[in-house]
Amino acid sequence: MESAIKENDMSVTHPNHVRKTVIVGSGCAGLTAAVYAARANLRPLILAGHEPGGQLSLTTAVENFPGFPEGIQGPELIQSMQRQAERFGAEYRQGLVTAVDLTKSPLELTVGKEMIHTETLIIASGASARWLNLPSEQALIGHGVSSCATCDGFFFPGKEIVVIGGGDSAMEEAIFLTRFATKVTIIHRRDSFRASKIMLERAQKNPKIEFLLDTVVEEVYDVAAQEVTGLKLKNLKTGKLWDFPTSAMFLGIGHIPNTQVFQGHLDLDADGYIKTHNNVFTNMAGVFACGDVQDRRYRQAITAAGSGCMAALEVEKFLEERGE
Ligand code: NAP
Repeated sequence: MESAIKENDMSVTHPNHVRKTVIVGSGCAGLTAAVYAARANLRPLILAGHEPGGQLSLTTAVENFPGFPEGIQGPELIQSMQRQAERFGAEYRQGLVTAVDLTKSPLELTVGKEMIHTETLIIASGASARWLNLPSEQALIGHGVSSCATCDGFFFPGKEIVVIGGGDSAMEEAIFLTRFATKVTIIHRRDSFRASKIMLERAQKNPKIEFLLDTVVEEVYDVAAQEVTGLKLKNLKTGKLWDFPTSAMFLGIGHIPNTQVFQGHLDLDADGYIKTHNNVFTNMAGVFACGDVQDRRYRQAITAAGSGCMAALEVEKFLEERGE
């Protein structure tokens, strides 16, 4: 029988309470790993992290996940995955890993005041929204500056809104925001796009969407008033500076991998993504990584799910080879 660990009391951490596997992150990759690990009777612990449900929980219609010909809402898809994992015995908990020791066996994770011991670890902590990092932008987060159209678009009915970026995220956000806004302006720093043809065309055909190209944001107004009233913009080709009135600025400029806690403990690439070989193996024994935290190329729900599955299968194999 497993011994109980009292919440918030490191002194009662029991050395015999060693989990078979812990999954850090509760997005598509982590929950798929949990379904597989739970069905293998490994009773995985899922630590939900600071963005429970990951990026799917912040998106609207998912039209490219096989099996849903009419599409499915991202939050609905992710909640179904969680229910599926829990049905087979996965334990789902809020919690942020604040420190790790991956040189020990069992591996050690600190979660708040609790120490968790585990034989294997699946890192599926994903990636978070990138910001422009202008002081005025940071000061107005939650006051008209947002990285989540589906969370905050609702607050700007009948307003004019700006979306920054030239990839699929920016197109998707802009299209979504036309539900609320009278006009959405996509501001992109170049005149060519990373967005897929179909998404770009949808945005271009939308009568409520306009584009400002070769343009960057220099400042967000009005920090003193604690609301967004406009932007100072700069055309990168002409150098022209001008003020552009808007009620909100949504960022759609990509993501940064959530690997801060693993820095110095695992091999990361120059941008902080976990380096993997054979799909999901990290440089540390018993530590596997899946989903956006290690994938800067595909970054799709289905590929994240696939790599989550691989990570759980490798955990099973690892434990088997250890004779468990
Ligand atoms: P992305 O493809 O990397 O695009 C990021 C965009 O933001 C680029 O246009 C980039 O400009 C711009 N950008 C980055 N940093 C900037 C900065 N500091 N200032 C101004 N602009 C900046 O990221 P994404 O759009 O989040 O997409 C990531 C992946 O998810 C892609 O594979 C995409 O296909 C996928 N995705 C799919 C869907 C869908 O199918 N429904 C929806 C969302 C995302 P440059 O082009 O100049 O570098």
